[in-house]
Amino acid sequence: MKLKHLFLFEILRGLWLTFSYMFKRKVTLNYPYEKGPISPRFRGEHALRRYPNGEERCIACKLCEAICPAQAITIEAEPRPDGSRRTTRYDIDMTKCIYCGLCAEACPVDAIVEGPNFEFSTLTREELYYTKEKLLANGDRWEAQIASNLAADTPYR
Ligand code: SF4
Ligand code: SF4
Repeated sequence: MKLKHLFLFEILRGLWLTFSYMFKRKVTLNYPYEKGPISPRFRGEHALRRYPNGEERCIACKLCEAICPAQAITIEAEPRPDGSRRTTRYDIDMTKCIYCGLCAEACPVDAIVEGPNFEFSTLTREELYYTKEKLLANGDRWEAQIASNLAADTPYR
């Protein structure tokens, strides 16, 4: 038997390695109470944005619906009494979405975006069928961060 086996050298070396890390800066996060930084280009939960006066940005051009490779977006539209064109239905089937970001890229008015929220898991599939109301509520909730992320990315678009 070798001496290093007799004195459990490998075990002592392993214990020393563990001990030496006790006083170093922690690299783990106490999620969900602590969260790491995410990129301004992060593609999270979808949101429909409004202008500062509260009017919805979406003009029902249907470019996002046409470009979506997963055919996850369904839009219906009608002209309003004032002649402007707006959606009467804007649904996203999030169970089909592959988070490619093409809908946001195609949108001429930055109405549909993928926001910073990544915590939207659900217990049922039905909860992942997003309606226009849900998407607009997401936009209202995350607008400040979405606007700041878009501004940070503007020089590269
Ligand atoms: S992120 Fe991609 S797959 Fe998802 S709705 Fe937009 S275009 Fe469709
Ligand atoms: S979200 Fe943008 S691309 Fe989609 S219909 Fe509205 S304006 Fe057009």
